[in-house]
Amino acid sequence: MSKFNQTSGIQIMTKCPMCDFKYEKKDVKIINSKEGVVTLYLNCQNCRGSIMMLIMTGAFGITSISMTSDIAEDDFENMEHGCVEYDDVLEMHKFLKNK
Ligand SMILES: [Zn+2]
Repeated sequence: MSKFNQTSGIQIMTKCPMCDFKYEKKDVKIINSKEGVVTLYLNCQNCRGSIMMLIMTGAFGITSISMTSDIAEDDFENMEHGCVEYDDVLEMHKFLKNK
């Protein structure tokens, strides 16, 4: 999980806002990534709460918006899946950090 921790100071939420349970990499799913907006879905293994997070990069820097979600993971089967992997987001953050 060291890789995950390296990004914790940037924008990726690492703990559940409801119960403070620490997310693991497997709990973080990338729903979509396009035009500088990455959509993440975080599912807490402890309280089963789920969070949708949008990370936007633009003229004003990085903005992240997170919201609780009651969308079940299965619902994403019907959504468009990109070929983005978790590591791509890490790369993106590295890139932005070095800017
Ligand atoms: Zn939780």
